[in-house]
Amino acid sequence: MEPANREENERHEDRDPQGRARQGHLELGRWAGLRPEELSDLGVVALSPGIPPRPGGQTGEAVLVGLKDCAWERSDDALIVMLDRRAMTHLVDRDGSVELLLTTLRDQPRSPEDLRQVLVAAGVQVDAEQLAAVLDVLDQAGLVEDATGLGLDDPQLDARHFSNLAFFGQFSDLKCSRASFLRRMRRAHVVQLGVGGGGSAIVQCLAGMGVGRLTLVDRDDVEPRNFSRQFLYRHADLGRSKVDRAAEWVREYDPTIEVRAVDRWIGRADDLDGLFDGADVVTGSFDEPPGAQAWVNQAVVGAGIPLVSGALFGTQLVYSSVDPGRSACQACAAARLSDGQSPGAEGLAVRLDERLPRTNRLTGPVAAIVGALIAQEAARYITGFQPPYAAGAVVFLDVRNGFESHRMPITRDPDCEICRQAADVRSRRPSAVRR
Ligand SMILES: [Zn+2]
Repeated sequence: MEPANREENERHEDRDPQGRARQGHLELGRWAGLRPEELSDLGVVALSPGIPPRPGGQTGEAVLVGLKDCAWERSDDALIVMLDRRAMTHLVDRDGSVELLLTTLRDQPRSPEDLRQVLVAAGVQVDAEQLAAVLDVLDQAGLVEDATGLGLDDPQLDARHFSNLAFFGQFSDLKCSRASFLRRMRRAHVVQLGVGGGGSAIVQCLAGMGVGRLTLVDRDDVEPRNFSRQFLYRHADLGRSKVDRAAEWVREYDPTIEVRAVDRWIGRADDLDGLFDGADVVTGSFDEPPGAQAWVNQAVVGAGIPLVSGALFGTQLVYSSVDPGRSACQACAAARLSDGQSPGAEGLAVRLDERLPRTNRLTGPVAAIVGALIAQEAARYITGFQPPYAAGAVVFLDVRNGFESHRMPITRDPDCEICRQAADVRSRRPSAVRR
């Protein structure tokens, strides 16, 4: 698997066989007087899942250390600290100095030097290097964050994005603030293919998350049959161009989002020319004509742009994403999955399925679920708050069984010409959406 997915797998290993989170455990006790290398020997034994370890890097000079919302109780020589029900961390604290540090930060965020002076004044002998090592361990446990980026320094915007900022606060740390995630979202350009069932939900979810720019592509008019699931449209819109009305909806919803409507039928690969210029992520897909999605895959993977799409097949919802040059692309997947030529029952199932009429059975709840999952995956690529979940995989959700899901990894086809182009692009220029 690619690095992103490997990290995901490592997170899953932090669970016991029943899927419950193991408790994290940190040894921080008696750190006063220890050297940084001794502190790191004490280090992290196991972090709770849900807070993936971050890539290394230096915490900025101007950082203001903030303690995230958490609660703790003392148990003998340890503090048991909870971020949420799945994230408990044990801190060894025999002399009370760790609790003093947490309490000081809970009162107000402080620069490392300011924090050190408070601790020293209270009788805890700690130098700057030791404190930096302790903060690094707390950072890896997800307990602290850069408090200079709790918001966008604009009361109206902060109110508008209150829950977005709080959500990113679950993934922020001393090197990446919640505001920096949101800024990436607000700078991002997403091209949405299709504004029908799933597309309507994707547009609404991305607008809610504050995406900066949307290009909407479709060639369809609003029809009565759309109203079971396409909540961008009103009765008065019947007969109007979907993308025009969808763009209007976005502008009315949040005038700060730049939106472009492309009312275009994609009849051949050339029709995609110029469509993806400046895009950070492409979401959605074209149902028709046959082959259109293969053109999309080739165009975006060749340009190094991540692609997230999904669909309903009978009673199975599926979605997947392509991280160009890192994960399998849709052509790799097509080469790996069964087709009508496959032997035995699998080939038979594909052949019979191809003879069934293509009836759109997407209801509001089903379209909203797949649209939301696609938007969330797009946000992973845009902000990097988590590695992409569905890269190089197909995620299935069972409509008959409470949307129970499973993730099927797809290995890359070593002979895939499209992936080879992506690798060339990736080596020439870094993706705009990488952290
Ligand atoms: Zn490929």
